[in-house]
Amino acid sequence: MDQYDVVIIGSGPAGMGAAFELAEKVPQAAILMIDKQRFSTGGMRNDCKMNFTYPIGFPLEYWSEAEAVEYLDKVSAFLSPTILRKKNLQIYQERAKRLDVSLIEVAQTHLGTDGGLELIKKFQEELAQRDVELSLSEEMLAIDPESRQITTNRRTIAYRTLLIAPGRQGFRFLQEIMDTLSVGYVDNIVDIGIRVETRIERYPIVKDYYDPKFMFPEKVRTFCTNSGNAHVVQEKCETSHGEVYYSVNGHAYSAQKGKENGMTNFAVLKTVGLTEPLASGQLFAEHLALQAMLLGGGRPLMQRVGDFRLGKRSKAGDFNHDLYDFPPTLRTCCPGDISLAMPARILRYIWKSLKNLDTIVPGVLHPSTIIYYPEIKLYANKPQYADNHFRVTDSIFFAGDGAGTSRGITAAWASGIRASRGMVNYL
Ligand SMILES: Cc1cc2nc3c(=O)[nH]c(=O)nc-3n(C[C@H](O)[C@H](O)[C@H](O)COP(=O)(O)OP(=O)(O)OC[C@H]3O[C@@H](n4cnc5c(N)ncnc54)[C@H](O)[C@@H]3O)c2cc1C
Repeated sequence: MDQYDVVIIGSGPAGMGAAFELAEKVPQAAILMIDKQRFSTGGMRNDCKMNFTYPIGFPLEYWSEAEAVEYLDKVSAFLSPTILRKKNLQIYQERAKRLDVSLIEVAQTHLGTDGGLELIKKFQEELAQRDVELSLSEEMLAIDPESRQITTNRRTIAYRTLLIAPGRQGFRFLQEIMDTLSVGYVDNIVDIGIRVETRIERYPIVKDYYDPKFMFPEKVRTFCTNSGNAHVVQEKCETSHGEVYYSVNGHAYSAQKGKENGMTNFAVLKTVGLTEPLASGQLFAEHLALQAMLLGGGRPLMQRVGDFRLGKRSKAGDFNHDLYDFPPTLRTCCPGDISLAMPARILRYIWKSLKNLDTIVPGVLHPSTIIYYPEIKLYANKPQYADNHFRVTDSIFFAGDGAGTSRGITAAWASGIRASRGMVNYL
């Protein structure tokens, strides 16, 4: 049986943050990082815009501003961001304020999907130089906490301390682990919303501020804006009963002259937290996703804003004519009627937010603008952490988006570092 001091599950930013910190603090420790993918992927590969301002990406229940700032300094030292300059911010902020909307000023950098890949390669080389072993195409399947062993699709591995950071896609896997370890948990929030796609000239703020963070009333916010060479994509997801659905998302390649497609896309998400009667937000979100799949023939829905305003579905035949002057970048979606698929209250708040946005940045609700649905963000149920370092039991720690300790690359990296500071006590 293979034996390591530290085993890290997941090579995303949370796993990386922990691996670098442990390699520095305990250089003699034998560290293994495994990832089920063939390439070290993690979310850094998608667009890779990074936010360096609290509270973006930091769930408030786990992070005070002082803590986040302390860790962000450390994260910046690794990621060495070139912060993008912003222009005309005050104009937008004043317009927003009049509508009770805030536009948060966030220190950002953007590497693009291709730039993110380069960064991952660089980190892999640096980890190898520090003798951290990376095993790809290896999936953790189960754990035996008594003997401090995990089983993967290849072998059994003994650990002294373990970090599980499987990302948002791994939220169900984390749930299984919590059940095995008898870790208590409470239901987590879900984010449900749409992705908006339009020409840059109709949302020109992106030329002044790459990923503008608008916070609207009723827990609605803009999220993950991409522009330049930007594309809407779909992620394949599975419900707890094994049914497949697709959630939309977006990314852009790094800024390269001549390669721009002139498009921008961003999400508008509504946070939903369910309370009485106690129900699962994740199951609720999955039901909504399946409803969208039903209406879209197994694909996400897309609708031109012009059709939406008229209360009619978009159809393939008349999806491109007259004012509808650009093709969707995610062509596999089904033209349809989003108001048939989304619950009224969520839709009402999102539409109201979009109208506010159109007052702050006039033009974004041009009839040609496309809205895609569903864009859903699921997080694992919130574990009851045993300490401030995201320890769940004995020598086992969770971190990253799946565990609910972050919602973005920089915060995931920070939560990996924070977990590692508890892990050193077991070495
Ligand atoms: C399309 C898209 C675009 C995004 N754009 C941005 C952006 O621009 N900026 C930003 O801040 N955030 C962005 N995000 C979110 C960002 O990716 C996450 O916040 C971040 O990657 C979370 O880090 P993590 O380490 O928790 O998880 P991840 O980065 O998801 O890494 C988890 C890793 O664990 C592996 N894994 C899972 N289960 C197992 C298992 N059982 N055994 C072994 N390995 C396992 C997975 O293969 C994965 O590589 C984007 C996400 C997506 C999907």
